Amino acid sequence: MTQLEVDSRAERIINTAADGFVGMDGGGVVTDWNRAAEDLFGYTKGEAVGRTVSELIMREQDRAAHEAGLRRFLDTGQARLVGRPVQVTARHREGREFPIDLTIWAQDEPGGVSLYAFLRDVSERVAATESAGQLAAIVMASSDAIISTDLDGTIRTWNPGAEQIYGYAAADMIGHSFARLVPADLSAQFEHILAQVAAGRRVEQLETVRLRADGTTVDVSLTISPVRDSAGTVLRLAYVGRDITAAKAVDRRLRETKDVLARQATEMEHRAFHDPLTGIANRALLMNRLGLALAQAGRVGTTITLLMIDVDDFKFVNDTLGHNIGDQLLCEIAERLGAIVRAGDTVARLGGDEFAVLAEQTSADHGQRLAQRIVDTLARPVEIGGRRIIPRASIGLAATDATHPVSPEEMLRNADLAMYAAKTAGKAHWCAFEPGMHHALTARVQLEADLRTALEAGQFAVHYQPICELASGRTRAVEALLRWQHPTLGPISPAEFIPLAEQTGLIVPIGAWVLAEACRQIARMPAVAGEITVSVNLSIRQLAEPGFIDIVTHALDQAGMPAHRLTLEVTESLLAGPDAAIAAQLRELRALGVKLAVDDFGTGHSSLGRLRNLPFTTLKIDKSFVDELTDTDTKDIIINAVVAMAHGMGLRVIAEGVETSAQLSQLRELGCDAVQGFLLNRPMPAADLRRHLTEQNTSAGEANRPDSVPSSAGRVAG
Ligand code: C2E
Ligand code: MG
Ligand code: MG
Repeated sequence: MTQLEVDSRAERIINTAADGFVGMDGGGVVTDWNRAAEDLFGYTKGEAVGRTVSELIMREQDRAAHEAGLRRFLDTGQARLVGRPVQVTARHREGREFPIDLTIWAQDEPGGVSLYAFLRDVSERVAATESAGQLAAIVMASSDAIISTDLDGTIRTWNPGAEQIYGYAAADMIGHSFARLVPADLSAQFEHILAQVAAGRRVEQLETVRLRADGTTVDVSLTISPVRDSAGTVLRLAYVGRDITAAKAVDRRLRETKDVLARQATEMEHRAFHDPLTGIANRALLMNRLGLALAQAGRVGTTITLLMIDVDDFKFVNDTLGHNIGDQLLCEIAERLGAIVRAGDTVARLGGDEFAVLAEQTSADHGQRLAQRIVDTLARPVEIGGRRIIPRASIGLAATDATHPVSPEEMLRNADLAMYAAKTAGKAHWCAFEPGMHHALTARVQLEADLRTALEAGQFAVHYQPICELASGRTRAVEALLRWQHPTLGPISPAEFIPLAEQTGLIVPIGAWVLAEACRQIARMPAVAGEITVSVNLSIRQLAEPGFIDIVTHALDQAGMPAHRLTLEVTESLLAGPDAAIAAQLRELRALGVKLAVDDFGTGHSSLGRLRNLPFTTLKIDKSFVDELTDTDTKDIIINAVVAMAHGMGLRVIAEGVETSAQLSQLRELGCDAVQGFLLNRPMPAADLRRHLTEQNTSAGEANRPDSVPSSAGRVAG
């Protein structure tokens, strides 16, 4: 090969090289400049040759140093640059600066020393190194745990964030398995994740728990990615773990708060629609269901029935037996009602002693049968706190009628009116609503209002009905009977207004007034009349009043009347609901010397045994028994037995409501002690009684024989 051939071959090689190639003389003047150098620096070979390298590619600030270095190189022959690339900053013709690797070597040639340089653009490498450095800085500064492991979980890198979160130093962890951080119960999950990532899938923000060096646990959110080589093969796993303990705690607290709130909301809703004592529906829920049922019944044309149930004498139970027993009674009633109705019917407590039953899709017939069934079921006695109580109730029934649509409120009011009617008609039964009841109620409400002012307005008077002793034919006692002269309605029967006074509690002041008035008037009867006893009727409500004994002693003191001249009458129904407080009250009265009579005997359910345990002195046989004494031979058996029994117990027997001479003679034969009735005397004002007693004492004994003198009967209106 000739030298020429060698040269041209070398030039070809140099020109196709990827690196820039520059030849220089000893002064740094360019003698050769290949294609790559043209591309690198933007000067053609023609432009470059003859100029110094320094001027062509060096930054101004580097030139002096470069030239000094070159001179030193040539002077000392130190081959500092030879064979070893140095990185310098070069400048493109257009001013752009970029890093290059410069490899330079010297060669002695005939014309002096020649310099040759290879120049390579290393921008990409430098950039990559820089960003790797930045990344490393980020990894070091991160508070997240940034870890890499082999595919089998052996830890390769461990940053300060990991130290912080897991509590292990890098030295303790590198080379060990990541499994050390995984709680036993999560190891299966961990193995699964390892396999997933090793297979090339990324796991994002997995919330899990890891063990710390001190044995505590830490909540972490993990993102695990496969790290691949350029061929795509997974080499390692990269973990980024974030401590989410605090966030979790907040989360947990939030969840707990939400749970509590949800529970409270449910409770509040339940409370809003249920009776706290019995747990059954309350008025709001009843009205709600009633509204829906009425709307539906209107569309479909079915009948719905609403029953209003009011416990009879509940206040009495509450006042005398205590609220605890009262509450238990209400629960018992709620339970019994619930057991009777069909599924889908609503049993509600409207407050106090008021309940309601809403029966949907009924017939008029079914509603009435249900009402009767409730009356019967409630009347079964119940044992509460060792006491036998018969929880009777009055029931009002209202049913829908296709021709008269009603609102829920109207329906409730109708049932309420019917319940009132049931109560007024004598309790413990049911009554169906009738349109006329509205009027009756208005009248009743008016009467109640009038009753409140009657006492102050002086509209009351006490009349006296003589009680005639059969042995002597003389009036030795009278019964005080209250009269109300209503300003517009005229005289009103106590049978009508006493129950009203009892329900409203007005009986307490009214009763006290009767007691005082009766004592006062009877004490003032003329001495000729002898010692007259006065019987005053009592309501249960009065007896249940704690200060009642004081009221009695006060009335006696004011009148100057000895206690033995006063008899207090209590109805037999009082004995049906036995109560220690009432019994104690009766005993105390008896101890004062006051006499006690059982009124209307035979109408209630009192047991004779009960009677024996209470300090009664007198028994009054109810008029209904006396009425039966028309047939001389047959109907006297009961009275006979009652008289015998009463006498056996040391009680005086008085027969009430004697209207015929036949009754009178029979009662005499049966051994009654005294009689009272229209046959002899109607109740009369005090002035008439005074006359009656005076006449009795001044006229002959024969004229006053009760069987011969119905003469005064009818003289005084009752
Ligand atoms: P009671 O205590 O059984 O009184 C007897 C009732 O029978 C009286 O009715 C009396 O007028 C009536 N009576 C008496 N003899 C005859 C008769 O031969 N035939 C008929 N048909 N009736 C007769 P009155 O005065 O209308 O009183 C009714 C009820 O009102 C009383 O029944 C009593 O339970 C109650 N009452 C009256 N005054 C008071 C009172 O001051 N306080 C209380 N708590 N209740 C009273
Ligand atoms: Mg009486
Ligand atoms: Mg009576």
